[in-house]
Parts: sequence; C-alpha cells; structure tokens
Amino acid sequence: MIIVMKPHAPEDAILRVTNAVESKGLETHLSRGKEVTIIGVVGDKNRLCSDNIQLLPFVDKLVPITESYKLVNKKFHPEPTTVKVGSHEIGPNTLTVMAGPCAVETEEQLITIARNVKAAGAQILRGGAYKPRTSPYSFQGLEEEGLRYMQEAGKEFGLNTICEVISQDAINAAVKYVDMIQIGARNMQNFQLLREAGKSGLPVLLKRGIAATIDEWLNAAEYIISEGNPNVVLCERGIRTYETATRNTLDLSAVPVIRSKTHLPIIVDPSHATGVYSYVPPLAKAAVACGADGLMIEVHNDPEHALSDGPQSLTFDRFGRLMEDLKPYIQLSERTL
Ligand code: PEP
Ligand code: MN
Repeated sequence: MIIVMKPHAPEDAILRVTNAVESKGLETHLSRGKEVTIIGVVGDKNRLCSDNIQLLPFVDKLVPITESYKLVNKKFHPEPTTVKVGSHEIGPNTLTVMAGPCAVETEEQLITIARNVKAAGAQILRGGAYKPRTSPYSFQGLEEEGLRYMQEAGKEFGLNTICEVISQDAINAAVKYVDMIQIGARNMQNFQLLREAGKSGLPVLLKRGIAATIDEWLNAAEYIISEGNPNVVLCERGIRTYETATRNTLDLSAVPVIRSKTHLPIIVDPSHATGVYSYVPPLAKAAVACGADGLMIEVHNDPEHALSDGPQSLTFDRFGRLMEDLKPYIQLSERTL
C-alpha cells in the first residue's frame, strides 16, 4: 500500500504518519517528489486500521498495491532512480555504455580492449571472470585472477567495472575488485544468490532470465532490494522463443513496459540477444531510440579466436563506428554519454 500525502505536506505531518505505520510493526519507505511525498508501506497491511491513517492531517489517499513487488514498484517511487557505479551514474540523464569481452582471457587482452572501448566512449568495462557456460568443458573463466585484471584495467583507463557473479564465493571476491556485479540470465531466479547480491553493498545489474516474464524479473529485483540494496539496474538480453535465426529474441517492448512498472533503470544487451555481430548495431540504435538507459556490448580484439561468444563480438573498428552512429540517437534522447 502507499499513502499519498497532500501537496506540500509539512515534515511533522509526514513523521506522524510514518510513526503511526511503524508503531504497527510495518516498514515505511519515503519517496519525496517536488510537491507530493509518497509513503510506501511494506508488511501485513491488515495490521493497519486504514481509517485512522486516512484521518491524519495532510493524508490525501491510501492506494493498495496489487503487484507482489513493492520496493521496485513505480507506484512506491514515481521518480526514476539513478544508480551510481564508481564515478558514473546510470539513470535518466545519461546513456551508459558497458563494453568489453565476454570473458577475461589474459591481462594483455583486457588492457587492449579497455584502451579501445574507453577511446570510443564507453564508461564501464565489462568482462566475465566466472562464466556460466552451457557445457562444463567450455572455458569457465579466470576467476579471482580475472577480477584482478579488471581492476587494473579499470584503474589504468579510468573505467568503472562490472563482472558477473555466480556464487557466494564469487561475490566475496568481486567486492574487493569491481564497481558493479552482474546476475546473469541463468541465475535470475537463484533466490539465494539474489539475496547475497543484495547484501554485498555493490550495485547490481540484473539480467532478464532466458524464459522469464517481466513480472518474474521484477520480483527477482525485489529480492535484491529487500536486502537493503536499492542500486539495481535491469538488463533486457533477449528471451527464448521459437525463432532460431537469432540466439534469442530481443524483447524491446520490455523497455517501455519496464518503464511503466518500475523506477529502476533499464539497459539493453543486443550482443547476447542476437548472437551475431552484424545485428548488434541496428538493435543498439533501436534500444536507445525506445528509451533504454544504456547498452551492454561485447567487444573483442580478435573475435575469431575469442574463448567465448566470438560470433557476437564487435571488433574495435565496428564498436567505434557504432559509438559514432549512436550519437544522433543519444542526442534525440536528451542524454549525454
Ligand atoms: C554475459 O553477459 O556474459 C552473459 C553470460 O550474459 P547472459 O547472462 O545474458 O547470457
Ligand atoms: Mn557473452
């Protein structure tokens, strides 16, 4: 439930309402707009005698929230959230580009890629150190060594960093080295991992599960935020459909749908969505045009010999061209890189 206060309600009136709610053992979350303050209530609302709350000074109305996710709900927090990642802010004013290899392979590889994605304008370096591979015999990642290379490359080129985590051990290591952690599509409903990501204190990029509905995805985000970590960014990376021409089917409609349901930022990953490098630029442009807050793009120095996801990785030239071609779309979206 949310309690909507009348415009310009004074602090003492707001405090009176939050005290009344909290005295019943329920949690409150304040969202202050320019004129109107909204008090979100989490817990068993049967404990509240709503008539009494309604009668308190400056209370405008009580609105029930029917969705099971509360803290991520736009009704709870109408203003868009900005998530800080190192020195960069992901939100409505910026167009965030996370770029880098699927997997960190060697120190030299990562340094070369970091130099090039930085020169092209990316703000966040991505690179997998713990790879959730379909086959147990495929390259599984350099683990902590890979995280160390990410930190070094980030420092050298002034890039913020993101790495996927697949276990509690990976989270414990990641907090020492990177600015943001990623929960991949395969782990979107690993509820224990979501809780641990919430407790990590780092901002979290939550990818959409391979066959997840938007409702399931938002509930997964609620798991993270319910641990006291409000810094969650969503990432649409394609869903599995009957179509086989692309690796997944990019659901761009998720961008406006997510926008209508939550205050959290959303970015788009056209690399994992399509699995084909030549399909990445048009969908990257479309994602910016339809309002995404950013992009995640796989870039490799030598895609033909990449240890994972070579076919969908852009070369430096192709990535540089894409960043140039994106400029008018970014300008139209009234954001800055
Ligand atoms: C990745 O970003 O490296 C990755 C494995 O992505 P996804 O979880 O979307 O498949
Ligand atoms: Mn990949």
